[in-house]
Amino acid sequence: KGNIMQKILPLLFVLIIMGSSCSKKESVSDISIKKLLCENQSNPNHIDNLHPRLTWIMDAKSKGQFQTAYQILVASSKDLLTEKKADMWNTGKVISSASVLVPYKGKKLHSGENYYFTVRIWDKKGNVSEYARPAVWEMALLTLDDWHAKWISAPRVFDWGKRDAEIKRLPPDSKVPDDPLPLFRKSFEVDKPVKSAKVYISGLGFYELYVNGQKMGDHMLVPAFTDYSKTVLYEVLDITEALKAGANAMGVMVGNGWYNPVSNDVWSFSRAPWKADPAVLCQLEITYTDGEKKWIASDTSWKCAPGPIIFSSVRLGESYDATKEYEGWTQPDFDDRKWTDVRVVRGPEGKLKAMNIPPVKIMKELLPQTIKHMAHNTYIVDFGQNMAGFVKMKASGRRGEKISFRYAEKLTPGGELDQKNINPFVADSRFQTDEYTFKGEGIEQWHPRFNYHGFRYVEVKGWEGPLNEKNLTACFIHTDFNTTNIFSCSLPLINRIQENTRWSFGSNFINIPTDCPQREKNGWTGDAQLASETGLFNYNMLTSYEKWIHDILDAQKPNGMLPGIVPTGGWGYHWGNGPAWDYALLIIPWNLYLYEGDRKIITEVYPAVKKYIDFLSTKSENGIVSWGLGDWCPARTKTPEKVTSTAYYYMDLVLASKMASLQGLTEDQNAYIKLANNVKEAFNRDFFDHQTGKFLYPTQTGLGCALYMQIADADKIKEITEELKKAVTTSDLNVDFGILGAKYVPNALSKYGYPSVVFHFINTTRYPGWGNWIKQGATTLWECWDGTSSRNHIMFGDVSAWFYKNLAGIHPDENNPGFKHFFIEPYFAPEIQWVRCTKRTAYGDINVHWLKNRDSIELNVSIPVNTNVSVILPAGQLLVDGEKPDLKKEGIIRFKSENNKNWLDLGSGNYKIVELIPTAKHVGIL
Ligand code: BGC
Repeated sequence: KGNIMQKILPLLFVLIIMGSSCSKKESVSDISIKKLLCENQSNPNHIDNLHPRLTWIMDAKSKGQFQTAYQILVASSKDLLTEKKADMWNTGKVISSASVLVPYKGKKLHSGENYYFTVRIWDKKGNVSEYARPAVWEMALLTLDDWHAKWISAPRVFDWGKRDAEIKRLPPDSKVPDDPLPLFRKSFEVDKPVKSAKVYISGLGFYELYVNGQKMGDHMLVPAFTDYSKTVLYEVLDITEALKAGANAMGVMVGNGWYNPVSNDVWSFSRAPWKADPAVLCQLEITYTDGEKKWIASDTSWKCAPGPIIFSSVRLGESYDATKEYEGWTQPDFDDRKWTDVRVVRGPEGKLKAMNIPPVKIMKELLPQTIKHMAHNTYIVDFGQNMAGFVKMKASGRRGEKISFRYAEKLTPGGELDQKNINPFVADSRFQTDEYTFKGEGIEQWHPRFNYHGFRYVEVKGWEGPLNEKNLTACFIHTDFNTTNIFSCSLPLINRIQENTRWSFGSNFINIPTDCPQREKNGWTGDAQLASETGLFNYNMLTSYEKWIHDILDAQKPNGMLPGIVPTGGWGYHWGNGPAWDYALLIIPWNLYLYEGDRKIITEVYPAVKKYIDFLSTKSENGIVSWGLGDWCPARTKTPEKVTSTAYYYMDLVLASKMASLQGLTEDQNAYIKLANNVKEAFNRDFFDHQTGKFLYPTQTGLGCALYMQIADADKIKEITEELKKAVTTSDLNVDFGILGAKYVPNALSKYGYPSVVFHFINTTRYPGWGNWIKQGATTLWECWDGTSSRNHIMFGDVSAWFYKNLAGIHPDENNPGFKHFFIEPYFAPEIQWVRCTKRTAYGDINVHWLKNRDSIELNVSIPVNTNVSVILPAGQLLVDGEKPDLKKEGIIRFKSENNKNWLDLGSGNYKIVELIPTAKHVGIL
């Protein structure tokens, strides 16, 4: 018996162990959480939203994985981040698939505190994941009482020039007067070991902070531009590392920026209601290791002096006189006895908010392509690429010697710098010009700090000695979107159009979306709304767009009216707006919902949307709106504004009804649907011939509008589509539309079965078109088809979104926003051999890579965890990972073949899909 027991016991033991490890194996999910985000950022330190939104991105070993429940823990210290101790929020197990932008609903959050969080999830089988590696967010300052600092400015007694005088149109060659910008400094003691040191700072127009001789951070043109009488942003900087025991010092440089605009331009920024002398609000909070806190805050104890920036204007340029530098002015031992006391000022009216968007940075540096010596001391440098930014100089010169950099996009036929296409709206004699005066001490390095330009060419004047590529680089700046999305294919022309679009999009996103980086730098609402899908396909736009939408809310008049540029100093309410431009208020939030799963922005804009619609309704006569700008910059044919304005009015109502429905506001929803139907009726009544049924405004934009804006009655769609197709294929111009049509026509034709037609007019160098610009040497997108005016506009930039949607085939799904579910339906253009695309989503990256083999098309896709996709392909024999679609296989949810199409629904994971059909058969020839 003993013998038997001896034999059985170990066996039993093994079985028990196996059993327990099996059940353990089963209960652990193969999903791991690879990234935690708060407000779409990793470990942000500037959250002033009481319900920050949390997102987690997952990875899984198996296919078809998704989340069925989650648990979030939030604690006020890392040690407390356990289920038992989480003192701020423990959601317990929440049955939900939500993993994107989940709002914090725990205990009240406090200014300046750190909150640690982690998440675990339950997967499709109910197995639970490990808790994610903890992340943290830090609150910014939530109430005015948290501010010990006062706004300070330089004293007026300096009489630093004509800052307040209105600059009149000056005779050519007259000098714009110098107007030195102040430096501010403060020394202070650190008397105990420091645990952390944070600076809360706003410097208007823009600022740079130095601590003990070192510049803090690599952000530029911060804080971002807002209507300072409504909103003022501040940054939070961790300067713990820069402090030392004993004496320390902080120094702040400021520029005029948009706060104190000095240019004499048609948009009247120099008369903006907020305009005032540059000012600083700065508060350093030191927490010692013993828990004691100390504040060093801007107040009357700070000192100031006129600094080396002797002129600063976002449009005109910057002058820097290095002979006026103060050696060591941000060091503690600097003797500031000769400096002046600062003035405490009221500061801007706007509400203080933490800057919750990625900052502008130098994103790329380019070397000169050619340097031409034009005359004594004068060179023309070609950087080979149009962009937003400035030059960085590295050179030596005699003390007092001055060089200037004048920026432009073009050269005259004689090779001189040509600013004519970009300076018509600024009356000053100086435009896009930086100046540097040498101090004469070895190699000097410099770039302007508080402005930027749009340029490809730079005229360098006053340069002694030879100029070579080591002396100058061009810095390309834009908001740091922090994404690696790509779209590329086998056709160089398409890739070039895509690249040009990205150069233009970047150049036109310097904190806010702008029209052009040279002539205007204005936040034109129409340009931004037209390019918003290109933005959302190519970059990580969530917080940047949210911020700018808040700027629109700031700009709305009490009667609901919106200006054409945002922010505005008061210009743009009487011209430059209208339904097509104002549409930004609705479509960008809607696109944020669609592309990023953002519901919050919908609730935030909704009251403004209602007000706007009330306003717009006053412009409607029996449902027709004739007011506002129309199809801007058409190739030849103009389309009556009443067609496009009425269609936008209609779409406003449609989107308003959807926004109402999302919030459960059924009454509003029904009211908007009713109104929308009236407008649609009016459009179909007034704009079609009653006898023939023909559309009365059959321009390409008009036809495209009727289709794309879903305003034509369903029974007319077929005929309008055919008419549009005919128009773009038979006209001698091939395409003939402006910026509105450039969105409608490609999207409408693709939707109604003619992507091949669109592809043909994009993939050509014929005039007019994107390819034609490239033939003319464009490195960005232009304002007009004929190349006049600006050469760096984004308003024709929807073409890149078309590539993502059609060539890669990725489409969001309105019913499952944020790419929770989406579609992949590529158009396999006969001319294209392969397409490769990565699109970031809040769930992770979608990858699409297709290529054509001799008798098949291979489509490789990766689908993020917790999402699924419908892949739609032309009918044909289909293999998934080498086998016929088999619903028993992991990840394959559904397969059907109908209407000449294969529908394949897949869960997360990587798949290789092969369609065994001869290529030519299903790629459709024009
Ligand atoms: C801007 C445009 C803008 C248009 C509106 C132009 O000056 O550069 O891009 O949308 O005006 O009319």
